[in-house]
Amino acid sequence: MTDLSVANNASKTGFDVAAVRQDFPILSQQVNGKPMVYLDNGASAQKPVAVLDAMDRYYREMHSNVHRGAHTLGDRATAAFEDARETVRRFLNAESARQVIWTRGTTEAINLVANGLAPRLKEGDEILVSHMEHHANIVPWQMVAERTGAKVVPIQVHPNGELDLDSFNSLLGERTRVLAITHVSNVLGTVNPVAPLIEQAKAQGVITVVDGAQAVPHFKPDVQALGCDFYAFSSHKLFGPTGIGVLYGREQLLEEIPPYQGGGEMIERVSFERTTWNTLPYKFEAGTPAIAEAVGLGAAIDYLDSLDRPAMEASEKALLARANELVETVPGMSVIGTAPNKVPVMSFKIEGLHPSDIGTLLDQQGIEIRTGHHCAMPLMDFYGVPGTARASFAFYNTLEEVDQLFTGLQKIQRLFA
Ligand code: PLP
Repeated sequence: MTDLSVANNASKTGFDVAAVRQDFPILSQQVNGKPMVYLDNGASAQKPVAVLDAMDRYYREMHSNVHRGAHTLGDRATAAFEDARETVRRFLNAESARQVIWTRGTTEAINLVANGLAPRLKEGDEILVSHMEHHANIVPWQMVAERTGAKVVPIQVHPNGELDLDSFNSLLGERTRVLAITHVSNVLGTVNPVAPLIEQAKAQGVITVVDGAQAVPHFKPDVQALGCDFYAFSSHKLFGPTGIGVLYGREQLLEEIPPYQGGGEMIERVSFERTTWNTLPYKFEAGTPAIAEAVGLGAAIDYLDSLDRPAMEASEKALLARANELVETVPGMSVIGTAPNKVPVMSFKIEGLHPSDIGTLLDQQGIEIRTGHHCAMPLMDFYGVPGTARASFAFYNTLEEVDQLFTGLQKIQRLFA
């Protein structure tokens, strides 16, 4: 059995995890009488003080409605809100802030795109997704397909969790109108080779949509390099607040597709005879937006920019490597998703144990993981399991925490399997 006493991450990767953890007050609490080990970052990540402070300051010093131009406070709120949009533009390397649309999250962003593309879809058209999609990148397309007569077609996945490129090549055809694919799988951690897929799809005039929800916490996407038409992500997985997310879109397409919701802010002029739409990005932002949340997301990105990215990514790799190394210390444990290119996410099962029992028993030891279908039921069906246990790591996790997870699993296995 592997020796479970190990050094900290800093000595191996140059990333000072101990210092970074000071920025996340929530991490230093106890759960069930034990120091908390938070390994459910894929569901939602924790927030640094910089985010909490930015939102607090916004409410204490500058809250008002935005874009009304009526007074000084409103101007301050608008400036903070639009600065955050510019921060997101830089994060994504988008050409213009007009391409950065605030949404409630990835789910709303994909619904916006699916509904916007609906008028272009007709009977027999195909929307390519993959078998490893989150429901957020399946169901909106199914709903639109139902309305239009189009069909949602899944690209197959290899048993190791890699996308089956032969399946992609055979399915991408004359009927394909949309390719909607996840950058990173929330269950498997697989990083999909989206750039070449987009290139191939674009060559056939296919519109490309990337679900970046699980990618952005681990690496910076470059939408210009990817060449995608749309890219969606959620703030709360990127160490920002809940209730806000982003849709990046190609400007021409955003100009062409209809608004998603109607109301204030998204209009240029309203009359009972004819209403016209506001310019981008406001055309897609009906109603009073989540202003403090936008400010919080901007602060989260600024915070991430202050970290040593290469060291942070190396530290995350070390966490995954350590977890992989320890799998053999738990009899009957097997990992679902072993693609060579993956982020630090580990879905697993243990013979004789139900995933939800694993979750409950780990929680009793202060270790927080996620269990269940992870909003990816088709993928669960593919692996023939009702669900998995999933440990998803962030840059603030330590090698000691990986060890604690495995010590916990060994205990559970000994007692119950
Ligand atoms: N896509 C992926 C890959 C996800 O992991 C998630 C959330 O887990 C979503 C979409 C949906 O994100 P949200 O619930 O923030 O809209």
